[in-house]
Amino acid sequence: MSGPTPHTRPSPDVVVIGAGIVGASTAWHLASRGLSVVVLEREPAPALGSTGRSAAGVRVQFTTRTNIEWSLYSLPQYREFPDRHGFEVGYRNIGYLLLVPPDRWESHLASVALQHSLGAPVEVLSPEEALRYVPLATCGLAGATYGPWDGIIDPHMATHAWVSMSRAAGVDYRFGRTVTALNPEGRGWRVRCGAEILTCPHVVNAAGAWSGEIARLAGLHVPVRPKRIQIFLSAPVADDRVYPLTIDLGTGVYLRSEGDRILFGLDTHADDGFTEGVDWAWLEEVLLTGVERYPWWEDLGIDRQGSWWGYYGVTPDNSPVIGPNPGACGWVDACGFSGHGIMHAPATGLAVSEMIADGRSHTLDAAAFRHERFDGVEDGLDGTGAGSDGTGTRVEANIF
Ligand SMILES: Cc1cc2nc3c(=O)[nH]c(=O)nc-3n(C[C@H](O)[C@H](O)[C@H](O)COP(=O)(O)OP(=O)(O)OC[C@H]3O[C@@H](n4cnc5c(N)ncnc54)[C@H](O)[C@@H]3O)c2cc1C
Repeated sequence: MSGPTPHTRPSPDVVVIGAGIVGASTAWHLASRGLSVVVLEREPAPALGSTGRSAAGVRVQFTTRTNIEWSLYSLPQYREFPDRHGFEVGYRNIGYLLLVPPDRWESHLASVALQHSLGAPVEVLSPEEALRYVPLATCGLAGATYGPWDGIIDPHMATHAWVSMSRAAGVDYRFGRTVTALNPEGRGWRVRCGAEILTCPHVVNAAGAWSGEIARLAGLHVPVRPKRIQIFLSAPVADDRVYPLTIDLGTGVYLRSEGDRILFGLDTHADDGFTEGVDWAWLEEVLLTGVERYPWWEDLGIDRQGSWWGYYGVTPDNSPVIGPNPGACGWVDACGFSGHGIMHAPATGLAVSEMIADGRSHTLDAAAFRHERFDGVEDGLDGTGAGSDGTGTRVEANIF
């Protein structure tokens, strides 16, 4: 394959469905391999799906080798984006602080050992040392860990950067186009959006929480379902410090600074599908759960206008599905990221481009994300949220 093609051919090599952060990264990586690409997006602009509603967190602190390796690839891509590509993506290493209860401490330290062995910078702290970062009650904590590479990016900026870069490499973005039908044609696909029909040898399903529906249009199965996630915003807080993305692993409550406020939340267990809007009753539950760790929440003002919601695309084990769909020729899924699609978008774009251009992902090991791990597994969340290698827990595997 030669370098990027500066024009769009009538029949592209690849149609990417979805112009969120995953679709845009994938389109650019594919174009960098000399493939012609059309991206179909039903919204009028990029990043208007889950990408525009995320908490923007990126971290290396994972419990599985694959997740750590994918973060170790992705975070430096974000950090070095302006130097490599000339676009700001808003990377700020404000850190992730994980607060660990005694019953999780031993297994957590085993994960830290794995992180260290792979080259991930993670610091082990006493509960008192955690106070450097966030005011909290240390009772019931065995310790904490802090990831100095971890932090946030700006998902809008990153998506728009990839859109600009891939357009310059010949990618054709078509906005306001809803994919309505997908049929096999020869060894490829016939893609319909409204009155328009495209044929292509490869389709990438990067439709986020809607990927299960896209697969169904093609008569395929991908076990991705929507899960509503809600983020609450506080009124301004009187502390000049920038709080890292702090997750209390005992309860799942998380927070971080957002300007002079904090954003915070807690994932529900509810399977409410494509339910829209903020459930204010859930705010009470979050505050009641979090106030023991953060006694200052007693006086926390809430910015109701600033709070928001969005969808995770979730799979039965809360890890993504990335790879060829076993039921089809020329179809690659890149979806089901739960809370990790922002942080793993660079690695995903690379892996998918290698799968299509070279027949397999060879820079990064994508075996843990294959469809085949679900063979014989009933659909639906299994309630444990265990990672695909069985070492994850609900909080580590699912939350951002
Ligand atoms: C509240 C919240 C907080 C989160 N926090 C984090 C975090 O801190 N860190 C992190 O890494 N991840 C986080 N996530 C998850 C992250 O946002 C997603 O994993 C990521 O945005 C997925 O990107 P995507 O491109 O796959 O999906 P999306 O951004 O949803 O893009 C999919 C696109 O497909 C389009 N589409 C759907 N159907 C069709 C169709 N029929 N035709 C054409 N187009 C279609 C949609 O319009 C959409 O634009 C969070 C998610 C939520 C909801």
